[in-house]
Amino acid sequence: MHNRECQYVDVACVNGCEQVVMRRNMDNHVANQCLQRLISCKHCNIIVKQVEMKDHYQECDQYPIDCTYKCGMIVQRCRMEDHIGRQGMCPKSLLDCDFKDNGCQFQGYRHDLCKHVENNIGCILV
Ligand SMILES: [Zn+2]
Ligand SMILES: [Zn+2]
Ligand SMILES: [Zn+2]
Ligand SMILES: [Zn+2]
Repeated sequence: MHNRECQYVDVACVNGCEQVVMRRNMDNHVANQCLQRLISCKHCNIIVKQVEMKDHYQECDQYPIDCTYKCGMIVQRCRMEDHIGRQGMCPKSLLDCDFKDNGCQFQGYRHDLCKHVENNIGCILV
């Protein structure tokens, strides 16, 4: 008599990913291969279906992306503003002079700005 739960029969994935898997491999499929299985984002630990992980990466806060100004650094998305901001490290972001409020129009890269402010007492006096 044939076992109704035959382990060597192809069955549709129990998670509904549309794959057909031999019943004896189903556990492994669901745990390791199924596109519908839930996995956690390795950057922010949120739980997302495997098939939706790519979309999640597009908006994941913690996902590492290339610097907006292509300085060569890779920064988590949520840190990018800090990175290119005044207190950040980005050598390629353009910053306004500290004395913009005093009317100084100078804009430059971080290291240019240091020199500018050091050498240009003018912008304090404007
Ligand atoms: Zn599946
Ligand atoms: Zn994430
Ligand atoms: Zn940068
Ligand atoms: Zn200035």
